[in-house]
Amino acid sequence: MFGAIEAGGTKFVCAIGTGPGDLESGQIPTTSPEETLAAAAAFFRPYLGELEALGIASFGPVDLDTDSPTWGHITSTPKLPWRNCDLAGWLGRALGVPVGFDTDVNGAALGEARWGAGRGFSDFLYLTVGTGIGGGAMVGGRILHGFTHPEMGHIQIPHEPNDPYPGGCPYHTGCLEGVACGPAIRERWGLAATELPAEHPAWALEARYLALGVANWMFTLSPRRVILGGGVMQQSQLFPLIEKELHRILNGYITVPPAFLAPPVLGQRAGVLGALVLAEQARRVA
Ligand code: ADP
Ligand code: ZN
Repeated sequence: MFGAIEAGGTKFVCAIGTGPGDLESGQIPTTSPEETLAAAAAFFRPYLGELEALGIASFGPVDLDTDSPTWGHITSTPKLPWRNCDLAGWLGRALGVPVGFDTDVNGAALGEARWGAGRGFSDFLYLTVGTGIGGGAMVGGRILHGFTHPEMGHIQIPHEPNDPYPGGCPYHTGCLEGVACGPAIRERWGLAATELPAEHPAWALEARYLALGVANWMFTLSPRRVILGGGVMQQSQLFPLIEKELHRILNGYITVPPAFLAPPVLGQRAGVLGALVLAEQARRVA
């Protein structure tokens, strides 16, 4: 049996099990690191005898360099109390099990790869469009890491000339996340993304921006599929709109594979199920 945590900015989802069929999960609100980590450890304590490893898919940025003394730490997050928090180390010591650690989106990509819309694809992307925009890339059957980890939401894209909203990213103003995340939609239109009707012009603009992102990732990573999840993608009218824009932007230069854009199959559970895969991998390494 494995332990899994999807560590988010508002809640920690803790779970035990081996897959979607037997997953048992609970939620802990994200407060201070001390309080939250103690509550997470308490969730797993009853299972200590059976627990082989723990996987954590975390909000970030995080240190994923296994040679680094701060591996498993949250690094430069704007959530100040969590800055430099040794998430993986603390929980690993508290529970006495090996820990697998990655970003929340890389976790979701792993979950979808194993049980969801990424099954059978050696090369795909998992994107979340929610409070922020983040992406995980499966490349040649492995999650892409690097100097840190990809920050696909922060790519630079041309600003739509008819969009008066400059963008809200505190680092880059009008990067993709800055113009297309859920909070950007609310800032631009004065209504939450959840309140805008399906035929509102907000969605055509949103699709245009997301298609620019997808086109850039196609040109750089050549995915066979792009899984689009997160709260904003609940607006299913976005899928055909993005696909149409994508064809326009690519202009016949590269082909869009069939069923290229797909919603996640695991929905809200992709991250925590991916953390289960991380636990499995940690057990194998240990
Ligand atoms: P988070 O990114 O915080 O993990 P979500 O993926 O649910 O969580 O993203 C939250 C964002 O998604 C909010 O900005 C919210 O307005 C937007 N959102 C949530 N549900 C919907 C919906 N059904 N339609 C459009 N936007 C939504
Ligand atoms: Zn940015």
